[in-house]
Amino acid sequence: MDLQLTGKTAVITGGSVGIGLGVARAFAREGADVILAARDGARAVGEAARIRADFGVRALAVAADVATPEGCAALVSATEGFGGCDILVNNAGTGSNETIMDAPDDKWMDYWYLHVMAAVRLARGLVPMMRTRGGGAILNNASICAVQPLWYEPIYNVTKAALLMLSKTMSTEFIRDNIRVNTVNPGLILTPDWVKTAKQLSAPTGGDWEGYLQSVADEHAPIRRFGTVEELADFFVFLCSPRASYCTGATFHVDGGMLKSV
Ligand code: NDP
Repeated sequence: MDLQLTGKTAVITGGSVGIGLGVARAFAREGADVILAARDGARAVGEAARIRADFGVRALAVAADVATPEGCAALVSATEGFGGCDILVNNAGTGSNETIMDAPDDKWMDYWYLHVMAAVRLARGLVPMMRTRGGGAILNNASICAVQPLWYEPIYNVTKAALLMLSKTMSTEFIRDNIRVNTVNPGLILTPDWVKTAKQLSAPTGGDWEGYLQSVADEHAPIRRFGTVEELADFFVFLCSPRASYCTGATFHVDGGMLKSV
């Protein structure tokens, strides 16, 4: 299937590793130019160079903390310098670990800025560029935790749930400009960070990190394995492509059956 992405430009926040990098590489494979944003500029620069070499597309790295107004402004300005964009993937995010009783207000606000305000601020900056191109697509990467909470991540659950509502609300406002907005809720996706965590947690009991990951998959996902970054990235790229032209305002689960409700 030709996804009709050649000549399009996709901005991916958190595009330097894990899911975001997989998504950036999948866009590039389909002929789209990409802009990767992350705080660690050096890592993003290295991955952008690898994308250029592997796929022959234009790829730009932008060092930006999208949890801040300045970081979002820097990404918007770099995108303008690149010639604009058609697609925005709000992917930068991270898990939390606390109890409601212990977490300070600041921690709640930090995650609000990263998971919600980054999407708001980047829309304000990038939607006008999409408009001038006749439309576009925004994809918000939330989490299964937005609808099926883990007790030890209250701030993550709540801010990702807020992202779902933001996404739905954006979809109604932006469709007038032919900009589609959707959300994906991934389940367990095997990233380098999961491998690092598994190695740390299994070290005291013999270091069987693969066994640890299997136990997590067995406990949570009926499919009994983690998804690969590639399995998720292909879905992201399809949803952002003109081939998904009737999809907007929707939330899709890519979770190996982890969601326990209909
Ligand atoms: P990783 O920790 O592997 O990568 C996170 C990426 O985001 C990195 O590129 C990181 O780069 C960047 N990033 C983090 N904070 C900021 C910031 N403030 N500004 C700019 N960039 C930032 O995460 P994953 O790939 O695992 O997850 C990506 C998204 O997918 C997250 O939103 C996560 O909640 C969601 N998700 C992941 C699941 C999984 O199983 N992996 C399951 C469900 C959802 P740098 O540190 O240099 O800034």
